[in-house]
Amino acid sequence: MAGGHIQITDLSRSYGDVLAVNHIDLEMVPGEFFSMLGPSGCGKTTTLRMIAGFEDPDSGQILLDGVDIRHTPPHKRPVNTVFQAYMIFPHLDVYENVAFGLRRQRVGKDELRRRVGAALELVQLEALAKRKPSQLSGGQQQRVALARALVLEPAVLLLDEPLGALDAKLRHQLQDELKTLQQTVGITFVYVTHDQEEALTMSDRIAVMSHGAVEQIGTPREVYDEPTTEFVADFLGISNLLSAQAVSGVPGECLLRVGEFLLTARGGETAARGQVKCVVRPERVNLEPAGATGHNRVPGTVERLVYLGSATRAIVRLDTGQTLQSLIPSDGQPVAFEEGIAVQLELPADALRVVKGGGGAAAPQAEHVLGDQLEGAADA
Ligand code: ATP
Repeated sequence: MAGGHIQITDLSRSYGDVLAVNHIDLEMVPGEFFSMLGPSGCGKTTTLRMIAGFEDPDSGQILLDGVDIRHTPPHKRPVNTVFQAYMIFPHLDVYENVAFGLRRQRVGKDELRRRVGAALELVQLEALAKRKPSQLSGGQQQRVALARALVLEPAVLLLDEPLGALDAKLRHQLQDELKTLQQTVGITFVYVTHDQEEALTMSDRIAVMSHGAVEQIGTPREVYDEPTTEFVADFLGISNLLSAQAVSGVPGECLLRVGEFLLTARGGETAARGQVKCVVRPERVNLEPAGATGHNRVPGTVERLVYLGSATRAIVRLDTGQTLQSLIPSDGQPVAFEEGIAVQLELPADALRVVKGGGGAAAPQAEHVLGDQLEGAADA
């Protein structure tokens, strides 16, 4: 079986009063591109550093391919780290930077030449082997750092915001390259980032973290389309949260009251009752002319239209005072709406998800009383 299987159990680490990592459980399977995503200070770097061995856990366990690595020093772990700051040696050329670790391991001449050549080819730097780091772009320097880590053939590559210092265009290009590279070498990549787009585009699975804890783990599609908490819904993508009263429902479905309007939600915590938060992704919100009729519609006014090139983002203030955003894909024509006009928003039931963290406590009385009253209204 391929190596690179990480099992983290009940891992914690504090710094003084700050609980940087709070009893987390994570598993990275061999050959997967796993990202830890969250805002600054959520504990992702501390977790990565504990896997690398640069920090000791206060409690908990890290198994690498079934072996407890707690007492294994960093340089003896089959793990290498690539940092945001490239940390390559300025006085050595590209070839010697990549060869450095192998020379320390006293690898034979022929093997060294073969492995350095292969690593440089992987990151497409063969032609620049004789250059010094000062003669390279930021992206090329990061490729040297990658080659230097990969040449040691680790079971796991840890990457701590490795693209953070690059400009947006280069970052996009390197995201594609990194994903291809990971598929080529087939080892486990554990990637730390606060950039949701980066995590969504490259990862097989993502752990979304907040305040030292794991909020949700899933594929990019799951964490984006099926967020379970308000935090995940808000952190991934445009914040499009709606406050509502969950008043009744059948299993798998709940009836929400937003002002005087009733909406059906089929996603998330549909059994919650009382004050809840719902998420709806802007691309699922359909903007319609005022007066459009049918279920799951609320009226509002277009507050602002933001042209994004591939789409136009409409910010709509509902008559209840809340705002929601709708993404209208570009079709080469100006959008059919103007700022200030009255519109109707259609929120499809399967796109409306009730999320945790919105104060959705059970309120059985309200459920029965209001539920019975409103169910009739919804069918009307
Ligand atoms: P960033 O993206 O900013 O690096 P992060 O999610 O990686 O954030 P960590 O670096 O893991 O977060 O930090 C988690 C918490 O622990 C933060 O509150 C941070 O200030 C604190 N912390 C981290 N390292 C230390 C340290 N060496 N001494 C004291 N506090 C620390």
